[in-house]
Parts: sequence; structure tokens; C-alpha cells
Amino acid sequence: MSLLTKNYLEVKKYKGYKVRDSIKNIVLKIGLKLYELTDVKNILLRPKIQFIYIHHVFDDEVFNFEKLILKLMKTNTFITHSDAISRIENNMIDKPYISISSDDGFKNNLNAAKILDKYNIKCCFFINPDSIGLKDFDDIKNYCKNKLNMPPVEFLDWEDILYLKKNGHEIGSHSIGHLNFSKLNERAINDNLIESKQILESKCNKINHFAYPYGRLIDFNKMSYDAVFKTGYSSCSSAIRGCHFPSKTNTKRIIIKRDIVIMDHNFSNIFYFLYKNSYGNDQIFLNPFL
Ligand SMILES: [Zn+2]
Repeated sequence: MSLLTKNYLEVKKYKGYKVRDSIKNIVLKIGLKLYELTDVKNILLRPKIQFIYIHHVFDDEVFNFEKLILKLMKTNTFITHSDAISRIENNMIDKPYISISSDDGFKNNLNAAKILDKYNIKCCFFINPDSIGLKDFDDIKNYCKNKLNMPPVEFLDWEDILYLKKNGHEIGSHSIGHLNFSKLNERAINDNLIESKQILESKCNKINHFAYPYGRLIDFNKMSYDAVFKTGYSSCSSAIRGCHFPSKTNTKRIIIKRDIVIMDHNFSNIFYFLYKNSYGNDQIFLNPFL
């Protein structure tokens, strides 16, 4: 088990250094400075719901994760995924809210939970039932490499998931097999949604939320959008950046926009997008399928 990845530094080595990332960091840093300098309206305080999501909090990311949570707590009220969805649906967005979720079910999500529990913040963990409790090193290595483009990282087991649930966190489905839903036919999509829900519900009561693997607009389609609600979920989350503003119309069956957060990133990388989202148009709710 010592071969399993414990630090984000190892992930960076695995993925390789990219000049593109350094350039992006510089551009976002300048962009954030410009936002901060011209922000006479205190734009981050606009009423809205911002969803953020993580994949991991490795041992060398714990310090930054806590720092980020404390920084976000200054201007936002943290709410659960269910509360956030309900506030969008019922047009009850009266101040800046933030909701955190996590995809892929790595064991190091327990590091995140430890910090979140300290501040009584509840996360929604989107789990792939077929990765729960994988123990064989080669199975872990292949799953991480082929599905997640990651070095071998240990996954949560059932005991961990029940522990998270006991601490008030929510559990959602992230599909069986971490598949790209735009490449599946209707039957495979329905079966996957139903089966992943059933497996999780066999231990965790009702599962209401689903997050698309990969999650960009090209990774799902109208068929998979309709299927999520038809098979009994009440929300579907994407990996499309943005946030949700108060609106009286188009508030049902929303595709949830989420901003990815990687602790290793400079915080300007995160706050640039939070600013950008806050300047967004009030009435635009992302739902290309309605
Ligand atoms: Zn994923």
C-alpha cells in the first residue's frame, strides 16, 4: 500500500510540468488584481449560490484547504448541496451562499471532511460505486490511470462513506465506471443511473444527487439530462464554471454549474473565477436542454 499516492506533488510529477499552467497562473493573477482594483460595488457580496468542487485533499494540501475555507467563510454562508438546490428551485437566494462537493471518492476526502467538520460545513461526496473499497494495487492503478488520469490513489470504503454520512455529509452518484455519458446509448445511461443509485441506496438511504463524470457540456447530452430526472434524481451537477443568481423563472431541473478548486493552485486561480462568476448576468440560467 506504500506505493499509493499520498501527496499532490506526486500527482504533479505524474501529470508532468506544463508551461501552459504557468502562463495561465500569471494571467489569472493579473486578472484578479484588475477585478479587485475596480470592485467598487463589492461584487463578491451579490446574492448568489456558488458551487465549488474538489477531487482530493492530499496530505500536502490540507493546510491550503483550511486556509481557503476560512477565506470563503468571510463572505459566504456555506450550505448543503440539497439546501442549495432547494434555494435555486424556490428562488430563495438572498445573500452569497457557497456549497461544496467532491467527485471520485478518493480516501483523502477524509482529510477534507476533517477540516469541514471543524467548521460544521457539509459536503456532497459524489461516488462511483465500483471504486468503493478497491484494495488490489493493480485494480487501483488501472482505475486511476484509465478513468481519472491519476497515479494510484486509495479510494473510500463503505465504512468511510457511512462515517461521512453520519457526520451529516451528503452522498451522491457519480456513475458506475466513471463513464462519459455522451458516448452511451439510452439504455446504458438509464441502467447506469439506476444501478449506481441502488448500490449507494443499499447502504445510504435515499440518493438524490448526480454529478456527470468529466462534466463539460460535451460530456453529456439531452438524453442523459432527461434520464437523470426520469430515474429519480432531483439534481444533476456539471463541471461547467459559473454560479446561480436569484431568478423567478427557469428554476427547475437546473444543470448545476460548479467551479473546480485545486488546493495546489494559487488562490488567485480560484478567486479570479469567483469574481468572474459574480459579474455574470442575473437572468441567464444554464439549461440548454429545456
Ligand atoms: Zn469524476
